[in-house]
Amino acid sequence: MSKQKLVVIGAGMASGRVLEHLTDAAPDAFDITLFNAEPRGNYNRIMLSPVLSGDQAYTDIVTHDEAWYADRDITCRFGERVLEIDRDAKVVVGENGHVSYDKLIFGTGSDPFMIPLPGHDLDGVIAYRDLEDTERMMGLQAGQKCVVIGGGLLGLEAAAGMAARGVEVTVVHIMGHLMERQLDEAAGYLLRKSLEDKGITICLQANSKEITGENGHVKALMLDDGTELPCDLLVMAVGIRPSVALAKEAGLAVGRGIHVDDQMGTSDADICAVGECVEHDGAIFGLVAPLYDQAKVLARSLLGQEARFVQKSLSTKLKVTGCDLFSAGDFADGEGREDIVLRDPARGIYKRLVIEGNKLVGAVMYGDTADGNWFFQMIKDGTDIDEMRETLIFGPAYQGGDTSDPLSAVAALPLDAEICGCNGVCKGTIVEAIAGGAGDLGAVRASTKASASCGTCTGLVEQLLQVTLGDDFQLPTAQPVCGCTDHTHEDVRRLIKTMPLKSQEAVWQELGWKTRNGCHVCRPAINFYLLADWPLDYQDDPQSRFINERKHANIQKDGTFSVVPRMWGGITNPSELRAIADAADKYNVPTVKVTGGQRIDLLGVKGEDLPGIWSDLNRAGLVSGHAYSKGLRTVKTCVGTDHCRFGTQDSTGLGIKLEKALWGSWTPHKVKLGVSGCPRNCAEATCKDVGIVCVDSGYQVSVGGAAGMDVKETEKLCDVASEQEALDVTIAFVQLYRENAKYLDRAYKWIAKVGLDWVQDRIADPAERARLIVAFELSQSIYRKDPWAEHATHQAERYQPLADLTLEAAE
Ligand SMILES: Cc1cc2nc3c(=O)[nH]c(=O)nc-3n(C[C@H](O)[C@H](O)[C@H](O)COP(=O)(O)OP(=O)(O)OC[C@H]3O[C@@H](n4cnc5c(N)ncnc54)[C@H](O)[C@@H]3O)c2cc1C
Ligand code: SF4
Repeated sequence: MSKQKLVVIGAGMASGRVLEHLTDAAPDAFDITLFNAEPRGNYNRIMLSPVLSGDQAYTDIVTHDEAWYADRDITCRFGERVLEIDRDAKVVVGENGHVSYDKLIFGTGSDPFMIPLPGHDLDGVIAYRDLEDTERMMGLQAGQKCVVIGGGLLGLEAAAGMAARGVEVTVVHIMGHLMERQLDEAAGYLLRKSLEDKGITICLQANSKEITGENGHVKALMLDDGTELPCDLLVMAVGIRPSVALAKEAGLAVGRGIHVDDQMGTSDADICAVGECVEHDGAIFGLVAPLYDQAKVLARSLLGQEARFVQKSLSTKLKVTGCDLFSAGDFADGEGREDIVLRDPARGIYKRLVIEGNKLVGAVMYGDTADGNWFFQMIKDGTDIDEMRETLIFGPAYQGGDTSDPLSAVAALPLDAEICGCNGVCKGTIVEAIAGGAGDLGAVRASTKASASCGTCTGLVEQLLQVTLGDDFQLPTAQPVCGCTDHTHEDVRRLIKTMPLKSQEAVWQELGWKTRNGCHVCRPAINFYLLADWPLDYQDDPQSRFINERKHANIQKDGTFSVVPRMWGGITNPSELRAIADAADKYNVPTVKVTGGQRIDLLGVKGEDLPGIWSDLNRAGLVSGHAYSKGLRTVKTCVGTDHCRFGTQDSTGLGIKLEKALWGSWTPHKVKLGVSGCPRNCAEATCKDVGIVCVDSGYQVSVGGAAGMDVKETEKLCDVASEQEALDVTIAFVQLYRENAKYLDRAYKWIAKVGLDWVQDRIADPAERARLIVAFELSQSIYRKDPWAEHATHQAERYQPLADLTLEAAE
């Protein structure tokens, strides 16, 4: 019987595997011609990264050499692109001539996607797909600069490979964390840290705008925030698209990829497709594991045997030395899903399992991925994990123990297991100390130093106390922030400053948070601490705010909102009042009320009307009064010297200056100010967070008043002679409060904890006062802006009606 003519387009990893199966099972079944646009045969494309980093040579990764093709009598047409297919004549047209087929396989892989930025066609702008790209990167000398656009698997392997050669690499990634499709934020954070340790600069949430060049060669990447990243080479690793142009021109059914059935057949009975160029059941592919399954199925189908391609779960690993990560299954949040999280900050380990019902559905690991395959198998098998739920995260080594005891894993740790990474204290030392009489955390700390440094192993030490002491163990009295951590607010604030920690992920990981990304109690607090301490590095996370702060309006008990524009120092004018009246009419505002903070509250505004009313008020020059925020609310003033015969100073003018200086700042709790022109105190300044009473000799500044659930008179901070000093001490006080108070402590509560003396000393110290003012101004340079203007213009569509009735006092 004469051989069938089989033509294969593309000598890639998938078609290469088809040829292996085919020629092993039936060496004489086909007369094979293999085209490849690359000037070579099959090599292990995924190992280009070790070639780039210098760990391997190209010859090490060749899978099919000349002898292999010769042994199988395969006609190789390498370096020749197929240009056209005549399906009626069953002919393939290559660059050097045509060849006829009985059966045809498409194995054309993918084309790298190039963002069409201005300058993308300059010399030195490349993708990362083949040996030529790899060689371009290998051509860079130590000290030269490369920018990689894309913080996914390929981009990071390219970056690490070049960094290993001494190239100065910057990775630009549009998302908030690296490899966001495979990793959650925690693992992404650890990965970023490891890569930065290798000298790679990572720019997240960075938007590329333009590639600039000189004499036709790339010179720099410009970001849309104006940052210029000079480079000698620019690698775009932003994704791939199935290579389908040829199939489309030939008239095959094509969607995102070439449509194939379970046997890898296309819409033409004599044409099959395999690898990244295909689309199967709506899915396209980018990892080799499913391609190898497809290859097996296709080889069997061509030989007339039964076979069916079935899509399976996939796992991902990154081939960068020192960055051990593993991700499998689905780890998105969802109803009915729960997380099990284990963090070992000292060793940079993070593990998260996602469970739905009694099944493991996803796993993300960083630092220690040894159990990855065990978890992956469970995901694929749908294993019932109910019996081992408590110890599952510790991996296979801890299964089979007393699973009903959640402390059993700690109990099962060997005596030489390290508990405190900072001080190198192992379990045996701690147990010995407990046996020797150390009965609580403080005593263990004193005798062993365990948990005495970063404090993140505190929970583990307590568990050891619990295991060792049994009923004699008493819980520590200090109140942790919430159930996600054993740290107190004070500990967290201190560690955010000293370690330093500049992102939520850093806090979760380095402080050993027990949950993946906090809860509704700790997130707002951590968000505030981070933005107060690191205004330049940290970006406010609106999702970590209470509903009122997210909506920039107070939600009322019927689900409508109240809208309070700012009236600087309580002063307004006819045109502002007209704009308020017009807005009230236009949006059918049922109640218009004058507040205790000397401004006007429009009550009963529908959620969907918020952007509209804000922009109308903005047009009249009115900005948000932040009546909903943990931030500066009002500065109440009296009329002062302008109108009152008792007035000693311009109290209204000072109030306006204070409000203009402080508005927009975030604080641990709301902040209200009052300025009265004389001791008659018509502005009731002495029950505010900061109250200023003007006197003939100057200004009496007092702090820590309250007039809510608690009523409290302010206490004297200091007397000052000039208006500028009154402004300075007030700003310095607010910044001191921002830097040190526990979230949701009003100023008077905080002062009671730290002592008025301490506050007075700090404000009296000229150097400290100056530092506080500079720090406050720096923060204001970012945060002093009107959220109404921003949201009315850019986020209007987010304002849908809400059913959530979280109440908060308006002023
Ligand atoms: C640097 C790098 C690292 C990777 N790391 C991993 C990893 O760690 N794990 C993993 O699972 N996957 C990894 N991948 C992805 C993996 O390599 C691909 O999934 C796989 O190579 C796809 O195989 P394929 O046969 O479909 O296509 P390819 O291997 O791309 O082969 C397609 C071939 O067809 C040729 N061709 C296209 N059109 C024509 C035409 N008209 N005429 C002639 N020839 C043509 C192309 O030149 C190419 O040689 C990596 C990829 C890269 C680039
Ligand atoms: S506080 Fe003094 S200055 Fe101000 S309005 Fe009252 S009496 Fe006049």
